Amino acid sequence: MAPTNDAILTNVRLPDGSGPVTLVMRDGHIAEIRPHAAAASEGRPAAPRTFDGGGRVVLPRFVDAHMHLDKTLMGEPWIGLPETRTLAERVAAAERLLATETTRTVEERAATLVESARRFGTLALRSHADVTPGLGLRSVEALLAVRERYADDVDIQLLAFPQDGAITPGVGELLEEALKLGCTVLGGLDPAGYDGDIEAQLTLLFTLAPRYGVGIDIHLHDGGTLGLFEISRICAWTEKLGYAGKVAVSHAFALGDRPAAEVQPVLERMARTGVAVITAASGASPVPPAALLWKTGVMLGIGSDNVHDSWSPFARGDVLEKAFLVAYRNNLRTDAGLTRTLAAITDVNAQLLGLEPGRVAVGAPADLVVVDAENGAEAVAAHPPRLLVLRGGRVVSGG
Ligand SMILES: [Zn+2]
Repeated sequence: MAPTNDAILTNVRLPDGSGPVTLVMRDGHIAEIRPHAAAASEGRPAAPRTFDGGGRVVLPRFVDAHMHLDKTLMGEPWIGLPETRTLAERVAAAERLLATETTRTVEERAATLVESARRFGTLALRSHADVTPGLGLRSVEALLAVRERYADDVDIQLLAFPQDGAITPGVGELLEEALKLGCTVLGGLDPAGYDGDIEAQLTLLFTLAPRYGVGIDIHLHDGGTLGLFEISRICAWTEKLGYAGKVAVSHAFALGDRPAAEVQPVLERMARTGVAVITAASGASPVPPAALLWKTGVMLGIGSDNVHDSWSPFARGDVLEKAFLVAYRNNLRTDAGLTRTLAAITDVNAQLLGLEPGRVAVGAPADLVVVDAENGAEAVAAHPPRLLVLRGGRVVSGG
């Protein structure tokens, strides 16, 4: 008997809009790609499942490089957010809200978000897990359980995130415990703006991470010349420790709020030292200039960041919608710009997570998303419904 993940996907267009073609999937991989008409006349009645793609585009599965599964309010009755002015106030308000107003466990809420993201075609993601003196390792433990529960469908990479500051007494030890428990990335947060001591935080991160062989991903909201200086220090530490390709700066608002003449040398240093940027193109915040990053050779990943949670009421975990927002805010209106933005969530994010870039090609894993669009460019521009999501040729959503 054929394995249950053998399947045929007929009448789909390839990411560049060519086709229609038929994809034959065997043992979890794409075994053949043939013109659609020829496959139809030949027929393959032995295959256990055949899907009609309706002439729409098939894309590689999406990867989300920045989520906060432990913070989401998904699955709760609607909870509105309080007014806050500073980052510290927001952190405090978020902790208060999660402690007093939620009725479901972290694990239950996180699972609701994973399932939502999965329906949108996200089959791999990086989630930050708060590690604070108040929470201890509770968020980490909850998300480890979620990672285990969805292991067949979604690759979940966990990051130990010091939401109350990294050099706060006791946090260093907690972060190390989180790495021992199974987090595979170490997080940081505004070394200047939050910890008030750039070198102390970077010393902690760049001492601890190599000891466990894990990557580093630092939330950097600090803008202006201060933010640019912090990025330069992150590059210096990356170079010193030979950590190229293992370090990312999330948000990096400073790259989007200073003139190009100031930003360009910093980008060149990031490209040279192998430090990536992960953007969420959030709200009114400055956005790193995508075209300039690409031209300079800086990797640009995209993440959902806060999804309907104690920080933001917006979105439902659709990273293709985030790709749309990145393209929109960068005014990437051509097919080349839209396609490059799509590659951020299929290829670049995959590389940031240490996974293979997504491909619709013979031999590639049959981890695929059929989107109600003609090609990859339209998929980003319109971020329309996902019609079918396959993992190893097995349906995880739609169909
Ligand atoms: Zn974040």
